[in-house]
Amino acid sequence: MARAIPFVNIYLVLVGLMLGSFINLAADRIPRRESLVTPPSHCRACGRRLNAIDLLPVAGYLLRRGRCATCGVPIGSSAPIVEAVAGACMVLALIWLGPWPGAAVGLALIAAWGLAVTGLALQRQRAR
Ligand SMILES: [Zn+2]
Repeated sequence: MARAIPFVNIYLVLVGLMLGSFINLAADRIPRRESLVTPPSHCRACGRRLNAIDLLPVAGYLLRRGRCATCGVPIGSSAPIVEAVAGACMVLALIWLGPWPGAAVGLALIAAWGLAVTGLALQRQRAR
């Protein structure tokens, strides 16, 4: 029998996934010089404000089959990948190091991933 996964680990992985979601937002908005806070997440094509299901990391993308539920515009497959990698950074750090210092290492890995993804988005914007 596998040991029960401590609740704190589940929580930390969820935090990792949500940070992945924020990385997508940052990579989308920073190159356009838009605010990270307002307006709330919305579909770029139809302007519909995203709800809780749309904003679920990875699962939201799968539930919506990669499209906006209102106008059907494709969301782009990089979004769930960015979220899954952020979640995986936390999972690996926790398996490797335990809740402490795994949590700190996981957050550092996610921060590095976020900088890489946002940096790449900025570079792509400049190349245009
Ligand atoms: Zn839409």
